[in-house]
Amino acid sequence: MSNNKFTPELIAPCGMNCAICRGYIAYTQGIPRVRGKITYCAGCLPRGKNCYIKRGCKKLSKHEIQSCSECDAMPCEKLAHLDKRYRERYDMSIVENLKILKEKGMADFLKSQEERYTCPSCGDVVCVHDAKCFVCGYTKEKL
Ligand SMILES: [Zn+2]
Repeated sequence: MSNNKFTPELIAPCGMNCAICRGYIAYTQGIPRVRGKITYCAGCLPRGKNCYIKRGCKKLSKHEIQSCSECDAMPCEKLAHLDKRYRERYDMSIVENLKILKEKGMADFLKSQEERYTCPSCGDVVCVHDAKCFVCGYTKEKL
């Protein structure tokens, strides 16, 4: 099993995999934008803009580190807040993502993402925000 949609360029400094983000999927698959709900994003790194996490972090903004997985203070307050929201709403922990990145490296992390977010029905990607594949309509059971 290999899903080439999961690549290092799409792993944001905060540990988010942009390949499973609604904004990225909408952008790459041409899903119509919906104000306040579906916006387009080329991915955090490709886009190159400051995000919620990077804005408040000297180490990231001064390029002392490329990813929060390299930070001794991980998770900082902002990251913990984001992590909590993702765990509660989307059944995903970015802190857990960062720990895998730190302890096992990028290749293993991408493999774990592939196992978890490849659509079992068509092999595309299951969106973390909607728990759904936009290509074939497969919907993951919510916990
Ligand atoms: Zn699918």
